[in-house]
Amino acid sequence: MAVVKRIVLLLLLALVVLAAAVGIKTWRTPSRQVSVAPIQKAPVDAQAVAERLAGAVRFKTVSSQEDPDYNREEFLRLHAYLEQKFPRLHATLKKEVVGGLSLLYTWQGSDPKAPPVALMAHQDVVPIASGTESAWTTEPFGGTIKDGYVWGRGAWDNKGNLLSQMEAIEALVASGFQPKQTIYLISGADEEVSGLRGAKPIAALLKERGVKLAWVLDEGMLITEGMLPGLSQPAALIGLAEKGFGSFKLTLDTAPGHSSMPPAQSGIGSMSRALAKLESNQLPASLGGVAGSMFETLAPEMTGFNQVALSNLWLFGPLVQKQLEKSPSTNTMLRTTTALTIFQAGNKDNVMPGHVEATVNFRILPGESLASVEEHVHKTVADDAIKVAHYPGNSEPSPVSPMQGPGYMAIQRTVREVFPEGVVAPSLMVAATDSRHFNGVSDAVYRFSPVRAKPQDLPRFHGTNERISIENYVEMIQFYQQLLRNAGTAVAQD
Ligand SMILES: [Zn+2]
Repeated sequence: MAVVKRIVLLLLLALVVLAAAVGIKTWRTPSRQVSVAPIQKAPVDAQAVAERLAGAVRFKTVSSQEDPDYNREEFLRLHAYLEQKFPRLHATLKKEVVGGLSLLYTWQGSDPKAPPVALMAHQDVVPIASGTESAWTTEPFGGTIKDGYVWGRGAWDNKGNLLSQMEAIEALVASGFQPKQTIYLISGADEEVSGLRGAKPIAALLKERGVKLAWVLDEGMLITEGMLPGLSQPAALIGLAEKGFGSFKLTLDTAPGHSSMPPAQSGIGSMSRALAKLESNQLPASLGGVAGSMFETLAPEMTGFNQVALSNLWLFGPLVQKQLEKSPSTNTMLRTTTALTIFQAGNKDNVMPGHVEATVNFRILPGESLASVEEHVHKTVADDAIKVAHYPGNSEPSPVSPMQGPGYMAIQRTVREVFPEGVVAPSLMVAATDSRHFNGVSDAVYRFSPVRAKPQDLPRFHGTNERISIENYVEMIQFYQQLLRNAGTAVAQD
């Protein structure tokens, strides 16, 4: 009995020590948020800026992958509109048209030694999905101002960013501000269809001119509200990297034949087995990398068990990971995802098809590559009869931009100044943006839009009833103004 009692006591003691370790780690993990002094936010005429944005939404700048001149007139009218609405900007910055319709503005800095920076926002928009027009409460390209919002395709993605950047620069020029470092404003006209005619040649042009950008800020992650369990404050997520895009076509050719005498193994059966294997053998998930940095940064800001678990990944790591893998929106941050997107075979009910093909789309985590994914496909499918081919539009995951350095510092500080109730954390962008073309021109590429979003707002992105609140739009203008002021300060401190 004495022995049993001793063991129970020892176990209890171990439990107490463990609980104490967890508690200490939880309560002693300090906040990583920078503290800033309150600022006087720039005055903005909300009605006037909303009307200018609404006007820009009315140009149907839908881009096309195949036709570079698709909606050319609409783009040219938008360019003329911008010149008319932002006269000071156009009188002060040099404007160049690249690749037909994309724009590169240069705002010459006073200090030629200060490394230049770039803001990006694209002009093109996605079309209205056919059949959804009637679900819009306003005309999709009407640029309607109603109930405190600017409504219409592009109000959020991405004319909101473009126009708020221009409003910020227009106001800064009017106030007599001149930047220390040169500032580029880059606006692609084909972001939604690859950026190959816009962002890519602009990046090449800058490289050719010997420009090395200290940092780049493009559209990207948002100020999320109510999306992260355990976090009550809005979270400004700064995309440090974006996932790669890898579509692979799997084809299988077999002898076609009559279905009255089928072979033991059909083409459709073989391909189905291969696809099922790919779906059930996912690439590994991990709490490391950018997702790990995000949780590390957010943990001290959380409450309840989320704070305890995320502060003690040494103990709760497997539990947390399992939980995150359950939801597609967090699962995608932890691993290279596998999505079966196309399957084609057969056209007659009594004929065995001779050709079967399928497409699998992977979103590749930084650290992995198109080559490593292709190897995974071959190894998992393990069927030499199935051929694997790359899609031409595939792209590698981006490098991971630093959480230190002037770019991240300036963005972080500006968020805390303009959105004082919010917290800032690094994050991983799971979709592609134009900024991926700038990896050769800068080592610090960030993806963040100062747009507030609740879970119910997300379907509006590329969807029906796209809109931006005027209140938030004013904050966006204040954000870019303050960011450009802070960019200069960061240079001066270096
Ligand atoms: Zn966009």
